[in-house]
Amino acid sequence: MSMETENVVARLKSSGLFRTKGLIGGKWIDAYDGKTIEVYNPANGEVIASVACMDWSKLTAAERSTRLRRWYNLLIEHKEELGQLITLEQGKPLTDSIFEVVCGASYIEFFAEEAKRVYGDILPSPMPDRRMFVLKQPVGVVGAITPWNFPLAMVTRKVAPALACGCTAVLKPSELTPLIALAAAELALQSGIPPGVLNVVMGDAPKIGNSILESPQVRKITFTGSTAVGKKLMAGAADTVKKVSLELGGNAPFIIFDDADLEAALKASLATKFFNTGQACICTNRLLVQEGIYEKFINAFSNVVQSLKVGNGFSEGVDQGPLINEAAVQKVESLVQDAISKGAKVVVGGKRHNLGFTFYEPTIISDVKNEMLIARHEIFGPVTPVIRFKTEEEAIQIANDTEYGLAAYFFTNNIQRSWRVCEALEYGMVGVNVGLFGSEGAPFGGFKQSGLGRECSKYGLDEYLEVRTKHTMFFYFRKKNHTYKLFHLHH
Ligand code: NAP
Repeated sequence: MSMETENVVARLKSSGLFRTKGLIGGKWIDAYDGKTIEVYNPANGEVIASVACMDWSKLTAAERSTRLRRWYNLLIEHKEELGQLITLEQGKPLTDSIFEVVCGASYIEFFAEEAKRVYGDILPSPMPDRRMFVLKQPVGVVGAITPWNFPLAMVTRKVAPALACGCTAVLKPSELTPLIALAAAELALQSGIPPGVLNVVMGDAPKIGNSILESPQVRKITFTGSTAVGKKLMAGAADTVKKVSLELGGNAPFIIFDDADLEAALKASLATKFFNTGQACICTNRLLVQEGIYEKFINAFSNVVQSLKVGNGFSEGVDQGPLINEAAVQKVESLVQDAISKGAKVVVGGKRHNLGFTFYEPTIISDVKNEMLIARHEIFGPVTPVIRFKTEEEAIQIANDTEYGLAAYFFTNNIQRSWRVCEALEYGMVGVNVGLFGSEGAPFGGFKQSGLGRECSKYGLDEYLEVRTKHTMFFYFRKKNHTYKLFHLHH
């Protein structure tokens, strides 16, 4: 280094202004792999400094995979206390919270594996000296906005595929349940995912949403939440033409035909309605029961619903916890009142629970019509509206008469009907003789106003990838006088 450069650098160092590490979250940080970039003086070519070279996407897929796998291991290692944290801020029964940790971790495990399988294509060329390739590359910075009902699983379902592809992410969890997202982010750091790759911000949701939308650096927005907010984000993404994935609201029909295995249908309808106090996008929103078994089914269903144990998620044997806040209880109350005022009947429950301001009784209301508000809005609470139907055609018509199209379920023992009805339902996911479903390996997402794109599975990975087509041309060898010479095909 020349004297002149040494002097300038020394002066800057003494005043703390000569920095060579990256600045992330107010801390000066080296590249995770120690890589650096040299800075030259253009006047004489000498190296002035080496600065940290921080590029997550330049890590090999195997290296990203190893770190993600470590993140999965840490979540599993801490599943008990992470489960307790979920119950603390979200309210669900502890066993369900621990299940959410395992399920949330499984998304990371799956995408850690998929990271190594982001394959491209080689395409047939239209010209003999040309070749065409398809390369899949990370889309760039991802903005992820998540809800409170599955405060860990919704985070990992977005962040894991983003990071697996080589993207970085800015996550905004719900202000109602930020603690589990922060705990998961801490474990991500511990697993070797470099600082700055996963960023978590909290605060005013519309403001954060807007800065994500306005930023040209953010190339993708992925959102799980209400259809109303999803529409705003979709409109806002138009200005910078971002890729958009939306997992929005649902209005799941659960149809039980006369020929169904009633015991299986009963078990599945109980789980599909009351899981997470009814606060899941794939929870049953309308129970459609065929007239031949209507009375019998309602009687049996009432018996089991009455026996559900409501309480604090930490109490032993609790089936149903509180709702997320009092506003949620008020919404449930008003939908039930509206239905009763229009002729529906309370069979079980139908009011606030005596445990306190966020508790509502497990409820069944019968004689519901599809025009009632309770059958048109997402209830997001422990209320089962039951609709009676006569024919298969009528069931399909009622089931599809909604702007949503996320999950649908039906029970029948008729194999012909099982195919026919499955194909007639306008839903992204259909359970045939099964209730509540979900797997990291199966695409998750909806038709119509329930969203755009798919999460989980190989399809979920594509949401975070750009397709680059590479066209190349090359010279041929031609043998002349026993030697090979390069020549251009067109010369
Ligand atoms: P929400 O009110 O739409 O909120 C979801 C997220 O968006 C939260 O982080 C929220 O922040 C944020 N947000 C609110 N307004 C915003 C804005 N103007 N700009 C940017 N972000 C904004 O939904 P929710 O009540 O939390 O969640 C329940 C909904 O999620 C239900 O409709 C449910 O069906 C849906 N859901 C869908 C799926 C699926 O896979 N399809 C899965 C789970 C849940 P704050 O909370 O901090 O205000």
